Amino acid sequence: MSSDLVIVYHRQPYEEVEVDGRTVFRDNKSPNGIVPTLKSFFGQVEHGAWVAWKLAEDTANPGFEAVVEIDDAFGRYSVARLPLTEHQVREFYHVTSKEAFWPILHGFKDRYNYDPVDWPNFREVNWRFAEAAAAEAAPGALVWVHDYNLWLVPGYLRQMRKDVRIAFFHHTPFPAADVFNVLPWRREIVESLLSCDEVGFHIPRYAANFAAVSSSLTDAEVTERQPVDPAMISVGSALNERTVPTRLTHQGNDISLRVAPVGVDVDFIDSRARQPGTAARAAEIRDGLEGTKLILSVGRTDYTKGGVDQLLSIERVLEAHPELAGQIRLMHVSVSANRNMTAYENVQADIEQLVGRINGRFGTLDWQPVTLISRAIPFDELASYYRAADVAWITPLADGMNLVAKEFAAARVDGDGVLVLSEFAGAAVEMQEAVITNPFSHWAMDQAIMTALSMPPEERRGRMQALRAAVARNDIRAWGRAVIRMPGRSAASSATDHAA
Ligand code: UDP
Repeated sequence: MSSDLVIVYHRQPYEEVEVDGRTVFRDNKSPNGIVPTLKSFFGQVEHGAWVAWKLAEDTANPGFEAVVEIDDAFGRYSVARLPLTEHQVREFYHVTSKEAFWPILHGFKDRYNYDPVDWPNFREVNWRFAEAAAAEAAPGALVWVHDYNLWLVPGYLRQMRKDVRIAFFHHTPFPAADVFNVLPWRREIVESLLSCDEVGFHIPRYAANFAAVSSSLTDAEVTERQPVDPAMISVGSALNERTVPTRLTHQGNDISLRVAPVGVDVDFIDSRARQPGTAARAAEIRDGLEGTKLILSVGRTDYTKGGVDQLLSIERVLEAHPELAGQIRLMHVSVSANRNMTAYENVQADIEQLVGRINGRFGTLDWQPVTLISRAIPFDELASYYRAADVAWITPLADGMNLVAKEFAAARVDGDGVLVLSEFAGAAVEMQEAVITNPFSHWAMDQAIMTALSMPPEERRGRMQALRAAVARNDIRAWGRAVIRMPGRSAASSATDHAA
């Protein structure tokens, strides 16, 4: 059955589990992720479709149904499963996307690795995603493609289907031209994106960078520019922009650039944080601290997250302030998502070594300054830590958004707690009442954590109130409303109207 809305996202929208020899589709474990939000759009159309990959030993004979029909609380939709071999997935996802694109998207030119990239494979996988989307889309449908590992899908799909509307959303930063243009496939990628009707980004800076890259590589021109929502302006901060390009033209195609910062499910987090179990666990954690202040750091093990820089900061702070011995504890949660990649393994090893050094230098039998957790903490447990912490210390070197910072504020139903946030996280554009810091500066990092630790209660509460308001204003539902115009709906929303 053809669909009015086709979502193209590399992962399937559920977990497949075997129960008594039967395959059962279950909602994804993380209730906070983007998947439930995307699925919720299916409720607004008669029939939707989702295109994802699924591992197959033999793609001609995958041994599973290519398309399954689902009718659940989210709506009626098909899931088209593209059979890909392990080799294809590794090459397109772990190698091309993670070793070549990921460092460039985050501004780490020196980590860019061109040599292992199998570009024909990347093209082929993207072509197959486009074919599957074309097969599902009804005439005039909206096809919504997500993230850089599918960069070539819009261009291919446009060759196959002139009638569909194509939107693309970047969940990462989009870098400046002098970084992006390191990619030898830069023109092919940008031309594909310029065949979209809409290209979406979290913050104005990323849209501005995309416009600059486009005009450096093609004849694309900015045809409309709008003032940035005043709530997202903070003059002098690293990601600040006052105006944003909202429309481009390229070879007769008119492209909207849409800015919509992804948010968290504030109601869900609020209800989890208020649960008696969460409050009781938070109280238990606090009792265990015996008066020491808890600094919480949560992120994936990734060089972009700045874990090493943060640990070096706590080491300097402990050295410069011996009076802090026994007074503070850092819980550093660094979860590995890609265990089989050398770059991430090295970061993990550096973190483990540093934590050992710091605890060895400053720890006693009764007090260890740093606790390292390398496994994922389930969200309910994380919510208890959010509630128990004195400070959330979130200092990525580059981050498209950073949902942990938003979750921390949403979980602080008590109105207390301090957020220290890197000015290079997209979230800093909205969360200006955090203690904003520059993770590239030793002085700024050390100063920020000291400021957070000594902040008077009234100031903490005032800032937290503003942070909670900012997070509630741009929650996940606001993102949904702002990011996309559904088929048949009015084109009323503008690039910066997520605040409406
Ligand atoms: N997360 C979690 N358990 C952990 C660490 C992280 O559930 O132990 C979740 C966290 O709640 C957040 C997500 O992982 O929803 C991380 O999102 P973020 O945008 O901060 O970073 P990303 O990993 O997407 O770059």
